Amino acid sequence: MKQDTICVQGGYSPKNGEPRQIPIIQSTTFKYDTGEAMGKLFDLEADGYFYSRLQNPTCDTVAKKIAELEGGTAAMLTSSGQAANFYAIFNICSCGDHVVAASTIYGGTFNLFAVTMKRMGIEFTFVDPRCSDEELNAAFRENTKAVFGETIANPALIVFDIERFANAAHAHGVPLIVDNTFATPINCRPFEWGADIVTHSTTKYMDGHASAIGGCIVDSGKFDWTKYPDKFPGLTTPDESYHGITYTERFGLGGAYITKATAQLMRDFGSVQSPQSAFLLNLGLESLHLRMKRHCENAKAVALYLKNHPKIAWVNFCELPDSPDYALAQKYLKDGSCGVVSFGVKGGREAAAEFMKNLKVASIVTHVADAKTCCLHPASTTHRQMNDEELLAAGVSADLIRLSVGIEDIDDILSDIEQSLAKLSV
Ligand SMILES: *Cc1c(COP(=O)(O)O)cnc(C)c1O
Repeated sequence: MKQDTICVQGGYSPKNGEPRQIPIIQSTTFKYDTGEAMGKLFDLEADGYFYSRLQNPTCDTVAKKIAELEGGTAAMLTSSGQAANFYAIFNICSCGDHVVAASTIYGGTFNLFAVTMKRMGIEFTFVDPRCSDEELNAAFRENTKAVFGETIANPALIVFDIERFANAAHAHGVPLIVDNTFATPINCRPFEWGADIVTHSTTKYMDGHASAIGGCIVDSGKFDWTKYPDKFPGLTTPDESYHGITYTERFGLGGAYITKATAQLMRDFGSVQSPQSAFLLNLGLESLHLRMKRHCENAKAVALYLKNHPKIAWVNFCELPDSPDYALAQKYLKDGSCGVVSFGVKGGREAAAEFMKNLKVASIVTHVADAKTCCLHPASTTHRQMNDEELLAAGVSADLIRLSVGIEDIDDILSDIEQSLAKLSV
């Protein structure tokens, strides 16, 4: 089926007399006739539900739809995008391991990697996504276990050269993990370019209405863990906490990674998405294809408007022909990128604050990528834990305004920007 049909119908095909909309299975637990039957589930010998900290039917239905959208073999929902990225890495990394990551990633993910996961003994080397091949290769170490980047970086909006990083990762025998939050599988399917694992903050476009925090991890099933048993013993050697099953043997390449993440990480950390949130996420997914189209059209119109405005210092939008990422956008995002545009107002930090204060249609919120137009000043909010040097490496200048263009009427969005710029005394 085509993407638009999967958005509406994927993951769920009710049988005779069953509900047409996905049921919310609001139950922590599931009933069994015998202890033995349940015991088999605990040993991963049989398939089924027993406790919603591990798996829940509503969440699995929605995860299946996202797996279909990405073209993957298996997926799991998590409580947030943060949990998704943490699990995606921690599922294959332990204390003493190392990861190569793009320096321009989301501030929350940067902090997770550089501060919190470092405390767990996992080291990250951050590379400029536009670095030379020599620099990229030099970032790998003996103990490197993965490469990580964002299809479109939040908020730097730098386009990740997925194929190039996938080739580098594979040359070093490790998978490429791509956070595909901003592009969504409507605009880019990283597996088609060689990525092995995809993550999402479903909180953004997928939910699309600013209603539920959530995350997702999807496996392409393509990375052959068994080729590098010394690097990924967690997948290729017996798990003593499950009576010695070996994930790659029992679940194959298509199922090993997600089953391990569910059986170990969900069991022990419990960052589950609630069935109610998964239901809301599914409502969002049903119109994702329509909304993305409108977000992209509106954002492009805004970018072109700002580009020609005398009070605007610079505009960053990868679909503008003079963007340094134009060629990459043409390759990876030919149907559109996302609804987020970043720019600087002449007059720097203070002018940015003034401009944002006078907006009426666009509201100031710590959010992006939902139906309602909104804006944010990252240097004083999401990225405030970074020093100037780190800000620069993350592609965030002090004057950067991140405008998340919604799906309202473009005339109203543009006249809002116009009236606010008119009030600026630059
Ligand atoms: C928002 C975001 C996250 C974190 O997701 P939460 O759902 O807020 O935990 C991770 N990556 C990207 C690219 C994001 O935009």
